[in-house]
Amino acid sequence: MLASASVTATLTLPGFVNAHSHTFQRALRGRAGGGDFWAWRDVMLAEAERQTPELVRREYEAAYVELRAAGYAAVGEFHYLGLPEALAAIEAAAAAGIEVVLLHVAYARGGLERFRQASVTAYLDEVEALRAAGARVGVAPHSVRACPADWLEEIGRYAEREGLPLHVHADEQPREIEECLAEHGCRPIELLARTGCLGPKTTVVHATHADGAELDLLAEAGARVCACPTSEADLADGFLPASRIEHRCIALCIGSDSNVRIDPLEELRELEGIARRQTGKRGVFPTASLLSFGSAEGARSLGLASWPDVQVDLAHASLRGVAAEDVLDALVAGCGADVFLPPA
Ligand SMILES: [Zn+2]
Repeated sequence: MLASASVTATLTLPGFVNAHSHTFQRALRGRAGGGDFWAWRDVMLAEAERQTPELVRREYEAAYVELRAAGYAAVGEFHYLGLPEALAAIEAAAAAGIEVVLLHVAYARGGLERFRQASVTAYLDEVEALRAAGARVGVAPHSVRACPADWLEEIGRYAEREGLPLHVHADEQPREIEECLAEHGCRPIELLARTGCLGPKTTVVHATHADGAELDLLAEAGARVCACPTSEADLADGFLPASRIEHRCIALCIGSDSNVRIDPLEELRELEGIARRQTGKRGVFPTASLLSFGSAEGARSLGLASWPDVQVDLAHASLRGVAAEDVLDALVAGCGADVFLPPA
């Protein structure tokens, strides 16, 4: 972790990388307070249904400006709203000055009709169209709920051949695991391994309910986990198996996911907070590791070689009285995203 203080009382850090965002879900904050994940999902689907390229272009730019102001320099947009909306999201990111990798979603079944492609070939044609338009892309089978095994096999082969990031939701909710066991006789991450979707360019989003054998598979494959603690709390998903992930040296990155909160420091603080509650120990993840999860690991997850820096305002009230050698620890332990200076 490089850090340098300057005479203008700022500290330069690598910008934060938001490896998992469904930006349209920003509109849902404060709504759908009751029920469970599945009740929230119904409200989310209604919000997804009303999205248009014009709405995406306008609202994503506003949300991306918020991300940028909060210290995020790059975002992985996990996108399942259709091809014109994907192009609108890319335009919105350019207007907001944030790097974007469009994680184009494969959706075979369930959800809304607008999410679904007729075949895996039709899906890969969409990915090719985005690449031909100059977009930075990753492939993203939505989940084992939404993609059958033959789609996963084809997408895994394509990602490996093309050297693309592969992102996939897994083990967010117990019901998904029960359904996977009933259909395939194995758990979601085991199915991803069987179908060739686990490798060093794979990011499994959530892994909340992953068991030990599934975590072992992630470690063996060199795959990483994207944790989204503020969304996982909001959606009643459960606790990341943080200390078990740390024990296996599985790389972590962070995402704002539903964008109920936009604050990389809060996501990182929650990672450590979950680990502390699980272990009864403090400092499970060293600060340098947490900051790396928030930046370099996210960039690796998205296949980004470079991304902008961010400036910390050392004169901010939340850092008042903090000794220079404690600033990075204090940043993660006690600051919000308003500690970052506006991007140049
Ligand atoms: Zn997600």
